[in-house]
Amino acid sequence: MSTMRLHSIELLATMTGEEITDGAVLVRDGWIEQVGTTSEVTTTADESVDLSGHVVLPGLVNTHQHLWQTLTRAVPAAQDAALIDWLTVLFPVWEKLTPDAVRTAAAVGAAELALSGCTTVADHHYVWPNGVRIDDIVDAVTQVGLRAHLTRGGMSIGASQGGLAADALTETEDIIVEATEHAITRFHDPEPGAMLRIAAGPPSVLSTSAQVLRELAALASRQGVGLHTHLAETAGEAERCRLAVGEAPLPYLMSLDWSGPHVWFAHAVHLDADSIASLAEAGAGVAHCPTSNMRLGSGIAPVREFLTAGLRVGLGVDGAASNDSGDLLTEARQAMLLARLADGLRGGPGEHGFLTARQALQMATTGGADVLGRDDIGVLAPGRAADIIAVDLDRPRFSGQHDPLAALVFCGANGVDQSWVHGRRVVEDGQLRTVDVGDLLTEHGAHAAELVA
Ligand SMILES: [Zn+2]
Repeated sequence: MSTMRLHSIELLATMTGEEITDGAVLVRDGWIEQVGTTSEVTTTADESVDLSGHVVLPGLVNTHQHLWQTLTRAVPAAQDAALIDWLTVLFPVWEKLTPDAVRTAAAVGAAELALSGCTTVADHHYVWPNGVRIDDIVDAVTQVGLRAHLTRGGMSIGASQGGLAADALTETEDIIVEATEHAITRFHDPEPGAMLRIAAGPPSVLSTSAQVLRELAALASRQGVGLHTHLAETAGEAERCRLAVGEAPLPYLMSLDWSGPHVWFAHAVHLDADSIASLAEAGAGVAHCPTSNMRLGSGIAPVREFLTAGLRVGLGVDGAASNDSGDLLTEARQAMLLARLADGLRGGPGEHGFLTARQALQMATTGGADVLGRDDIGVLAPGRAADIIAVDLDRPRFSGQHDPLAALVFCGANGVDQSWVHGRRVVEDGQLRTVDVGDLLTEHGAHAAELVA
């Protein structure tokens, strides 16, 4: 049994609607036992942490990422390309991935996310060349100490069948389904507080056959795991999908049983009112990735319409090849700003008003937890896992602020100072506690140089 008491917190935002001045949290064996003011939470603990001058909130939940892509940031030929050209540049690079490169890349991506306040990451991995296995990503996220939802999917349609990727990056239909089932059997933990869950996650309707999409949906339902893919990321996707399979992506996926609260889609930029209503009816969630959508010039996701329709909406940083960072607090700021730009482009915010800083943080915490089907994270309350982050306000960028919580978004918080995942310290005084970043970056840089030689 171990206990920890965080106390004297300048502002404790539980994300249940409660904001406590001079707050405190008592943690026992990785679980939150008590939340209140410092004078209310008085139990003596093994470890006591003074967080005066800090804002504390639940750890952020990243609902869409491709950790391997930290190896291909700012690749010159992909810098100014839209999605299809961007993929055409990068697929040949990713063909050279090795198990060591992927493990190192995932560790760097997880480290970067942790430093930005992320405590749970959903990693969408679908390229498995040269013996790369999901075990490599499991090792990396475990080493860094993040809670993770890892997807196993794959591409069955290569260039010889009209796909974008070379055949070398594809797998047979049987292998994709079998490897996904194997990953679930080996690594998926359905219990509350799970550090590792597996989901089925093919990349898109255009690179994976109907048979695989249907079988993965059936597998996810049978095993009680998540089901994830990209959807409606670009304006041209619907037309390409109609040409390839005779339907727009969403009705096509629905016809293959991609429906239910375990399903979440990345991007969902180009959806009309009927499609949003279908998503809501299906109970599916959305991983909103504003930076990636801007970076690739994909468009602006109708987030206001999602929220009005009652969709579960979380945030995703997307891969580091299209962001090109993995900073989840910044993503909350981007989400707020982009939603306001969308309002401005249509003449004003309307009756709902602008998306607020608190709503952006809600998407980054409770929204993300809902999207991943987790009721054990996302808020700070008794019985929830102790995934907690703290930001020190004593910095030039926050000086003069009049709302500590909103300031994290408006002033552009540059990472967190402290974080715990299930009560385990991951970030201390702005530094990663779990891995030696120096060694990691040396190895990572060498792999990156080898890939884009
Ligand atoms: Zn993505």
